Amino acid sequence: MDRIASLGARLVDLLLPPLCLHCGAALSGARPGFCPGCLATLAPLSPVACRRCGLPRPGSPDSCGRCGGWPEGLSAVAGTRYRGVARTLVAGLKYSGWRHLAEPCAVTMADALTGPARIELLVPVPLHPARRRERGFNQSRAIADALGRRLDLPVEDALVRERPTTSQVGLGRAARRANVAGAFLPAPPARRAAGAVVGLVDDVATSGATLAAAAEPLLESGARAVVGATFALAFEFAYR
Ligand SMILES: [Zn+2]
Ligand SMILES: [Zn+2]
Repeated sequence: MDRIASLGARLVDLLLPPLCLHCGAALSGARPGFCPGCLATLAPLSPVACRRCGLPRPGSPDSCGRCGGWPEGLSAVAGTRYRGVARTLVAGLKYSGWRHLAEPCAVTMADALTGPARIELLVPVPLHPARRRERGFNQSRAIADALGRRLDLPVEDALVRERPTTSQVGLGRAARRANVAGAFLPAPPARRAAGAVVGLVDDVATSGATLAAAAEPLLESGARAVVGATFALAFEFAYR
């Protein structure tokens, strides 16, 4: 009976056009995704922001509480703010396994990355192998691949996640740092990072603790600079 029901559900999927994952409007494409109106809400972050980490409206453009403790050589950019459609998009990519949603992430990020950074190599933030097996793929690698195609940049899995880390959700800044400290190690392709400006790709950044922990082994491997490149930035925390 279950098999018949799931077969029925698949037939319905085939016969009905997919709906926008955020607002429910009918889509013209064949795969789950977003309508043009929802995609248009993925707006760039305010240009009035920290020059180093992109956090909008910091106390001063030269120093902000978010990036003050980051390793020397790390800066960051993000495509859009983590709310509304961006949240729905990340959930669809990560938890529903719709890898093609990496494409709108890359479209949203491309402009922010073609600025003064001159990135030469993209490195995704890795998942721990157990998490990767569970999810079937690394969403950051999917975004890096889409970005690499768009910007004509090579992608390398230059990092490994040495130990599993718990979710950063709900943790304060110090706890986030402690949770990911020392979690990343260089993998053999890290030698390609030597002398390069590396774009460190992830789906969402908050305090930047994960970017900071993952940037360290890249910088120790000789990367000239690391630019944290995330699809979305969650920053309500910064103004609490
Ligand atoms: Zn929509
Ligand atoms: Zn900053």
